[in-house]
Amino acid sequence: MIKLKTITRIILTIISLPLLGLGLLFIIAAFNPGYEYRLIIGSISTLIAFAILYIAHKPQPKIMEVKVTWEPSGKLKTQELTCPYCRAPLPPPKPGQEYIKCPYCGKTIKITEEPIW
Ligand SMILES: [Zn+2]
Repeated sequence: MIKLKTITRIILTIISLPLLGLGLLFIIAAFNPGYEYRLIIGSISTLIAFAILYIAHKPQPKIMEVKVTWEPSGKLKTQELTCPYCRAPLPPPKPGQEYIKCPYCGKTIKITEEPIW
């Protein structure tokens, strides 16, 4: 299936080519004495033809998909999940949880994020 953009490009090219040819003819014909005004007509139509060609063939911006995932910026201090006081294993913290209470010694441990820098 031909895309609509491709059809538009072909139509614009077909329109611009005779315009470009006519413009160049007018520029050539302007060199006869008394027909200098043709240079203006020729230049304008040539410029319009080039403008149409540029619009038809300029690179199209591509739509890119960007996936964003979040990861902690630093190592989590309690990654080993052991109590720093009694070395007992700790339950995994829930997302957003800042404190863990050790089920063995009852001490509260603060979860801090270690910065990378
Ligand atoms: Zn403990």
